[in-house]
Amino acid sequence: MTADASPAGTRRPIRRLDPQTIERIAAGEVVERPASVVKELLENALDAGATEVRVTVARGGIDAIRVDDDGVGIPKEELPLALERHATSKLAGPDDLDAIATLGFRGEALAAIAAVARVTLTSRTRDADAAYALEAAGGAPGPVRAAARPPGTTVEARELFFNTPARQKFLRSAAAEQVEVAATVERIHLARPDVAIVLATERGEIGRYVRALDLGDAANRVFGPEFATGSFPVSGALPGGGRLEGVLGRPALARSHSTSLFVAVNRRAVASRPIAQAVRAAFQEHLGRARFPIGVLALTLPPGRVDPNAHPTKREVRFADERALAEAIRLLVRDALLGDAPAAPPGPAGAPAPPAPRPGPTASEGRGRQRSFEGVAPPASVAPSAHHPALRLLGSIGRLYWVAERDDGALLIDQHAASERVLFDALLAHGRIGRQELLHPTVVLLSAREKAALEAHAEAVRAAGFEVAPFGGDRYRVRAVPSYLGRRLGAEALRPLLAEIADGGRPTVPDGLAERVAASIACHAAVRAGDVVSPEEFGQIVERLFARSEPAYACPHGRPIVVEVRRARLDRWFLRPTP
Ligand code: ADP
Ligand code: MG
Repeated sequence: MTADASPAGTRRPIRRLDPQTIERIAAGEVVERPASVVKELLENALDAGATEVRVTVARGGIDAIRVDDDGVGIPKEELPLALERHATSKLAGPDDLDAIATLGFRGEALAAIAAVARVTLTSRTRDADAAYALEAAGGAPGPVRAAARPPGTTVEARELFFNTPARQKFLRSAAAEQVEVAATVERIHLARPDVAIVLATERGEIGRYVRALDLGDAANRVFGPEFATGSFPVSGALPGGGRLEGVLGRPALARSHSTSLFVAVNRRAVASRPIAQAVRAAFQEHLGRARFPIGVLALTLPPGRVDPNAHPTKREVRFADERALAEAIRLLVRDALLGDAPAAPPGPAGAPAPPAPRPGPTASEGRGRQRSFEGVAPPASVAPSAHHPALRLLGSIGRLYWVAERDDGALLIDQHAASERVLFDALLAHGRIGRQELLHPTVVLLSAREKAALEAHAEAVRAAGFEVAPFGGDRYRVRAVPSYLGRRLGAEALRPLLAEIADGGRPTVPDGLAERVAASIACHAAVRAGDVVSPEEFGQIVERLFARSEPAYACPHGRPIVVEVRRARLDRWFLRPTP
């Protein structure tokens, strides 16, 4: 509970901070892009005890951002102070900085926003019989005037960076800024699932984050149905009197970026490298090289053990005894993961095998587990090519490793990794793979962030083989899905693809998109561990795998695909003279 908001309706007056307090504040630029404005305004609404907040953006927030709340409001006589730098109602003196209970405390955000945009602040306290408003554009506010609105506050910021063209240049496309705005709202919703947030654009509502029953409920809505069935809870005590609650996706749901692990500390959405690393360490044995766990963790710590005054945007916080905290989190997550019994069949992507039509005999199906070779029907052979000698398939171990014979020894091939690599290469080389129209188009629900990602990268999604059309509200109709070598994706693979797209796209990663799209599609369309594979399919995959001049010995996630056992080594094992 934030101090300012409890009990709702009480607040302290806004005051100018004294110089000693100002000196202790980690000053810096808080307004970099529309999403940073949305973050500051949303946090102010939460500090004011709002139960419902509406965020409206025009052109990704570049043209206008408006946040309406039903919080405690600002009295008429304090309105000009609210826009002044280092004026806040949240700190009484420097000592309050040692136990910060509100999201804001520096009294900087509104001033910083008013310095680079045209701002209108309209507010009405709960006991006032009228609302008041004032405007500021790049500097000092104008006069306070009467206005109309129910109790609460509206802040509108128009024409971001209108007076600072240099910073305008750093803005990305409206569609890309929109993705960031939606991601910010999502992050704050996961930190405060008890507050309802609506996100709208000039064209209408794009996201409705209703009050969630609990963290798991909120996480399921943000991550989608795959998460609802593929996640496990984690909870326990933290050193120094803290507590951890959370929900994490099983390893199969891991993504190629670290941005889908959400962390809240005392209900503030933060980015924490030590916590993210602790979670990853707990997953270590279950994850590929470039995979990152997804989910939400909520930490409750005594105020003295966490310092939000460490970073200008407060996105990073400092912990007392960070190592002990990280280690406690690693152990809690590891135990929860070990104690979790997955309902889905095992396999690198966890989800059930796609209902791909497979030609040819699936010979070993129903043959019983006592056979050590099953999964493919030998004999299957791959003719020699310029780059590899002839290969003959002997069988498979546990429907996971193909065993093949070559003149100079044997090869063990991971069927999922090989199939994934072949798909990944095909997609990356041609920029597109085949598509298959669905006889019965499937309707999927998309989150605001996924919608924004779809809008921002419609062409990449199409090239990947998906054909998607709006179907009203959050619903989208999938009419065609990617397909390659007789395998096709389920419509539900669209969400992870969009999440993958939305996760990246940082200005520092200009070229990652094609790889991320290819990796996501390949991972979902590939043969899975446990799948029965026909000799034809084995032949097609292995032919393509070895068609390159240097065979790819690692899958897109960095795990090995092929292990060679040379004849000479076999001879050594059996103490035979090498011929
Ligand atoms: P800070 O949040 O660090 O105090 P801001 O510049 O964001 O600084 O806001 C200045 C002050 O304006 C706040 O301390 C608060 O008293 C008041 N204020 C801002 N936004 C709201 C809001 N949505 N509802 C009520 N009061 C607000
Ligand atoms: Mg603030």
